[in-house]
Amino acid sequence: MSHPLILFCYLVAAVLFIVGLKRLSSPKSAASGNLVAAVGMLLAIAATLLDREIVSFTGLIVAMAIGSAIGAATAYTVKMTAMPQMVAVFNGFGGGASALVASAELLRRLGAGEPPEVAVAIPIVLGVLIGSITFTGSLVAFAKLQDLMTGQPIVFPLQQVLNALLALALVAAAALLVLDPADLNPFWVVVGISLALGILLVVPIGGADMPVVISLLNSYSGLAACATGFALENHGLIIAGSLVGASGLILTMIMCRAMNRSLANVMFGAFGQAGGAGGAAAVAATGTVKSGTAEEAAMILEAARSVVVVPGYGLAVAQAQHAVRRLCDQLSDRGIDVKYAIHPVAGRMPGHMNVLLAEADVPYEQLVEMDEINPQLPNTDVALVIGANDVTNPDARENSNSPIYGMPIIEVDHCKTVIVCKRSMNPGFAGIDNPLFTLDNTMMYFGDAKTSVEDLSRELREL
Ligand code: NDP
Repeated sequence: MSHPLILFCYLVAAVLFIVGLKRLSSPKSAASGNLVAAVGMLLAIAATLLDREIVSFTGLIVAMAIGSAIGAATAYTVKMTAMPQMVAVFNGFGGGASALVASAELLRRLGAGEPPEVAVAIPIVLGVLIGSITFTGSLVAFAKLQDLMTGQPIVFPLQQVLNALLALALVAAAALLVLDPADLNPFWVVVGISLALGILLVVPIGGADMPVVISLLNSYSGLAACATGFALENHGLIIAGSLVGASGLILTMIMCRAMNRSLANVMFGAFGQAGGAGGAAAVAATGTVKSGTAEEAAMILEAARSVVVVPGYGLAVAQAQHAVRRLCDQLSDRGIDVKYAIHPVAGRMPGHMNVLLAEADVPYEQLVEMDEINPQLPNTDVALVIGANDVTNPDARENSNSPIYGMPIIEVDHCKTVIVCKRSMNPGFAGIDNPLFTLDNTMMYFGDAKTSVEDLSRELREL
């Protein structure tokens, strides 16, 4: 049992994690929430270093220095649009670390001639199993998002049967290991099958569904850490692991609900295979498309009393957030009421738009969630859709044959006028046509989001 002071440190760290998580739920308090949770983690690490019989601090310090340098450099350089891949790598390493620590604990006990009793063997096996699945599953997710392998679902005959058989073999080997931890043969079988299952479970999922998978793997990495915490009797790890496990699962469910899909549909379903998401061919739009110039768009905006900006993935790709903020400041200065409508899955990760707009110092009170903005849209003069597509697609509401039917959308088609800023008629993430672009009250304003918004600003100034 650890010293009471160490346990107290873990308790304080746990409180800081929970307060940090709570603060992450609002953009206003998110940055400080991150800091609070980081302080909690520092405290937990310090307590662990003091508590454990460390063999050599030199190795630890060198490893921490290298890890911190890589982490800091990546955090500064990684693009906002590449954040899902980065989270995938983090999850994979977290799961891998838990599997290694749980394995080391088993080998340490065996080396000391004290095979773990059942109550310890179970969390050790769970740590190895879940951690290994998370490790390889996350690496595949990373490779798909980073285009290191095809983003298309990889399917082959009897795939689900193979997975089911492997899962059964895994359960059997895990049970044998728990019953006789001194025999290492089942241990290697557990490691091998878990690593293989991580790959096999993720390859059939389309690149388009990867953000949801990553969120689920995030939850797994927490569960692996939690199990390893039980194996080591480390309270800090148990608490931090359960918080990650639970919050990852909640986030997964939120993303599924925002796309109106079940988790089973994401894991085993057809969305990525239906010719839709994940790099599917573009679907040609039908109907008449009206396109306008920067000058025409500026005139429409100038005449408006209320403007709702709908940001999407294209805004993030173009890094147009600062230009958009400057445009909105101009509109506000002219007495026009400006709001930003935030869809829960706009962009490629939860909170993507909030993070981008916060980076450009957009006032929080101008960010309005989907449920709150939708009733206001029929009274809104202009919706300015910037690099968003699926999250504004009226088919999700009206066309029961659409793959995204039932997904809640920002109902910009109810506004008096809609200006859609994107480069072409190409589809978005779901790979489907958007009838919004051919509505009578829609004007397409083609071009890269950043350049187009800057042009719009210039025209507005000249009016
Ligand atoms: P979409 O992917 O539907 O559309 C983005 C649009 O941006 C494209 O149609 C593209 O059109 C345009 N675009 C790309 N680059 C630029 C550029 N440089 N300048 C201007 N426009 C550009 O994005 P949404 O945000 O509307 O929707 C998000 C999608 O992601 C949803 O389908 C959602 O379900 C999915 N998703 C989101 C998750 C999340 O957590 N946020 C998780 C999982 C899935 P063009 O090529 O013509 O320019």
